[in-house]
Amino acid sequence: MRISNNEYKKFSKQIILKKFGIIGQKKIKSSKVLIFGMGGLGCPLSVYLASSGVGTIGIVDYDKVELSNLNRQIIFNTQDIGKYKVDIAKKKIKKINNKSKIKSYKFKVNKSNIEKLIQNFDIICDGTDNFHTRLLINDFSLKKKKILISAAVSGFDGHIFKFDFRKKTPCYRCFMPEIPSQNNNCDTEGVTPTITGVMGTLQANEVLNSILNFKSDMGQKMIIFDSIKMNFRKVSLSKNKKCKNQC
Ligand SMILES: [Zn+2]
Repeated sequence: MRISNNEYKKFSKQIILKKFGIIGQKKIKSSKVLIFGMGGLGCPLSVYLASSGVGTIGIVDYDKVELSNLNRQIIFNTQDIGKYKVDIAKKKIKKINNKSKIKSYKFKVNKSNIEKLIQNFDIICDGTDNFHTRLLINDFSLKKKKILISAAVSGFDGHIFKFDFRKKTPCYRCFMPEIPSQNNNCDTEGVTPTITGVMGTLQANEVLNSILNFKSDMGQKMIIFDSIKMNFRKVSLSKNKKCKNQC
């Protein structure tokens, strides 16, 4: 993987960090990251991945931009309303880093298409807003031994967790075995706009930590952020013997 002079200049402020260096930048350029959901989380996440030089970014979403998205989905503006999110996002991310390969997928994921979709990526990011898709992404990221970085927001709170399925680890089903009857999401619950920016940016941060093999404290822990109290809380996650994934 070659880094051009122009890229060297563009990423110089991170390359001068000893823990990044030119080797780290090459790792970032060779990495392939897939983002499920181009909503409040996917917007800042994709922007940071492109601006830090991630070589291949996949974006999955079948929704069109709506007026009520604009308070938090910061890639979009009023001119984008009615257009497919992935089409708009692809153009805008490409302008941030024209060296990033942006692959867009405009369909609803299901059991029969998800495996093929994730197999060509190293890190999977979940920024979707429903339990059904979250469980599906969890199950197949585990099956294909990927790194899964998942975030969710509701009201004034957000949470994030990472599972490195290349190793033995609990999975999302260990603490959320089935779809709860009340499926809270931004449409029904409401969400403060900035929490999506914080959590999407934390996902991007953890993607870089994973690519560069930095040891974060995210192993088997979930971080919960309360945006009113400004409090980060860590909760340990453990395996559930009854988990149907037998993770
Ligand atoms: Zn499990």
